[in-house]
Amino acid sequence: MRGFLKPVGSLVDVVFPAVCEVCGNSLVDGEDVMCLKCYSEIPRTRSHTDDFGIVHQRLASTIPIDRAASFFYYFRENPYARLIQKAKYNQLPRYAEWLGKNYAREIVGDGFFDGIDMLVPVPLNRWKRFRRGYNQGEEVARGVSEITGIPIADILKARRHSTQTAKGSFERWLNTHEVYSFDGDVTAIENRHLLVVDDVITTGATILACCKAIHEASPTTRLSVLSIGITQLR
Ligand SMILES: [Zn+2]
Repeated sequence: MRGFLKPVGSLVDVVFPAVCEVCGNSLVDGEDVMCLKCYSEIPRTRSHTDDFGIVHQRLASTIPIDRAASFFYYFRENPYARLIQKAKYNQLPRYAEWLGKNYAREIVGDGFFDGIDMLVPVPLNRWKRFRRGYNQGEEVARGVSEITGIPIADILKARRHSTQTAKGSFERWLNTHEVYSFDGDVTAIENRHLLVVDDVITTGATILACCKAIHEASPTTRLSVLSIGITQLR
């Protein structure tokens, strides 16, 4: 089977030579997605060991968040941000998985995942998930799982909700947002430590809403969060 698959792979390489997604240079053997130089220059937040770093600050609320980490700063128009956008909109879920895997590999040695029982991806609503064919947050979690061996638990549900007070259809559309609810077995998460995973944290509202849904269903559950990107607020 290997003998059969190998020439096909090479043919693909000839038609679409593998280039670094950040700088556009050709990748050499052993490199994937980006070249080593661009990998070393990722604008890392190095937040995973902070007691109250940028991610914690963004998520400061009444819900206790134990550990919080984001791989890198997400600036629009930045080539690193483009990777996340491609993972989401260009049918490249493997980029999300690759980012999750590499981030996990970088921080696993510092104990970030110690004692974590499950990875919980931020869900997409059914329609979005159907149209895209995958959930990029779940792909990030898959990459993390490959390194840590921690299982992925699909225990949240998302649905669209429009604010009742909005009158016209445009206002309703503007006021539509995702509502997250717990959709699993409470006894399976009581006294457990869950890591909620998403691709990007912007205001933090989405990942916090997910944490809130879990916390309300099971207040004894410890919550931590991980994302690939985090935007910088001005
Ligand atoms: Zn490069």
